[in-house]
Parts: sequence; structure tokens; C-alpha cells
Amino acid sequence: MERGPLSTGTGPSADPGAGASVGPSAGSNIGPSAGTTTGQPAVPVAGALAELAEQVSGCRACPRLVAWREEVARTRRASYATQEYWGRPVPGFGDPEAELLVLGLAPAAHGANRTGRVFTGDRSGDFLFAAMHRVGLANQAHSESVDDGLRLHRTWVSASVRCAPPANRPTPQERDTCAPWLDREIDLLAPLLRSVVVLGGFGWGVGMTALARAGWVVPAPKPVFGHGAEVVLQPRGPSRRPLRVLGSYHVSQQNTFTGRLTPAMLDDVLRRAVED
Ligand code: SF4
Repeated sequence: MERGPLSTGTGPSADPGAGASVGPSAGSNIGPSAGTTTGQPAVPVAGALAELAEQVSGCRACPRLVAWREEVARTRRASYATQEYWGRPVPGFGDPEAELLVLGLAPAAHGANRTGRVFTGDRSGDFLFAAMHRVGLANQAHSESVDDGLRLHRTWVSASVRCAPPANRPTPQERDTCAPWLDREIDLLAPLLRSVVVLGGFGWGVGMTALARAGWVVPAPKPVFGHGAEVVLQPRGPSRRPLRVLGSYHVSQQNTFTGRLTPAMLDDVLRRAVED
């Protein structure tokens, strides 16, 4: 039986291709930050996020994406020919006490699909984490591998779809099939969450829909995506805070190489996301 986001109670060993390991991004930031600051919510949330990462890593619900991620991992890019690719879904990464969620599109075939950590091992990640470092959200500007020492401060980074899609284009069905993973992640982070930065229009649509399900009031019609777009979502109940949602052009090379998205533009959005 294929494992998917709605599977519960089974470990990754249920996936014949996944083995028994926790996703490599799951442990990197969770351990050191758990329980080090405000205490109470961190340890159980960190554990739940690690468990979620383990479950995500074993998901095989989308046949086209499973085939693609594994094909890329088998064939590899020549410059990475000696490396073992992750070749599985990529969980979110960051500080379990995150007040800011950064939401992207999907893992890159030779980036996160290779390294196993979101936005790690490609130019997009370099651009993003350099900005996060300048703004004080990351302890370093580079992101090369799961053991590179990267730590995020009060920030969680995730993707709308957890498997690398051909041409960076998930289908609507794949988007919807993957949505429960994001729902569960947001639900765990929600009590402390104050802002969301969405990278690109695809993530904006996914994010608004997920936030509506997660307990915030999303206006109808939905706010329109644009670089610098900003909307404050009001909570539907006492367990949520008002949430500032900002849009940024995606950190893909087609935006950063052409100057459509500059470092200063991304810095500005991130600073607005964390200011009081
Ligand atoms: S895209 Fe999401 S739902 Fe589909 S196989 Fe990957 S992790 Fe599972």
C-alpha cells in the first residue's frame, strides 16, 4: 500500500525505499533549539516535528513525483556523480519555536532532493539563507549540506510540495495530495506563529488555502500575490495570533539572475516579517 499524508501510525519502515532513518533535516535545528528559550512548547513541538519529518520522508503518494525524484537520484548530475542523493520527500527545517514560516514551492532536483534539506545545495538556497543571515534569522549565510552547521532563529522553512517535480511544476493533484503535510506542520507551529513569508505565486495560493484550514480568516476573494504584498489574517479562535503574510518573488535563479529579485528586495520583505 502506498504511504501518503493521511497515513497514520506507521513508521518509515512501511516504505520499502525509505529505510528507518529520520529525514536529515529533521534533527539539524530541532535539537539545539529545543527547550533553550521559552521552554514549554519547544520540546513536545520539536518531537512532533521530528516525527512528522520521519513520516513525510517515507511518503510515496504521488507516483509521478516518486518516479522523478528517484530517477534524478539514480542518474545524478555529473558534478555530483560521487554523491548519494537523498531522493525522497524533503521535510521542513528550522526552529521548533518559529514565529516566522518561510514557504517555498518544492525541492530542487539537484538541491534539496540531493541533500535532503529544504533550500540546501543550490543557488536558490544560497540566496535565501544569505538574506536570512543578514536579517538575523540564520547563524550563517551558506547552506550546503545537512551537516553544515546551519541554525535558524525563530524561523521555519518549508515547501508547498515535498518532492522535486519535473520542471519545478507540480500538478494540481500533486499539490492537493501533499497539502496535509503542510497542514500538520502549520498546526504544530501555529501557537507561536506571527508571520509567513511566501516565495512565489504557487506558494501564495497553497499558503492561503492552508492558513484558512489552519484557523485564520482569509478574505474572499483571496489576497493577490505580488512582491511585497502584505495582508494580516485574523485568527478564528484564541489558539491563534493575528498573522502577517507577505509575498516575495521566488528565489529561483530565473528571478535572482535577472535582477527581478535582488538581495535588498528579499531583505526588505524578511525585515517586515519580523518587525513588531
Ligand atoms: S509530493 Fe507530497 S504527497 Fe506527493 S509523494 Fe511527495 S511527500 Fe508524498
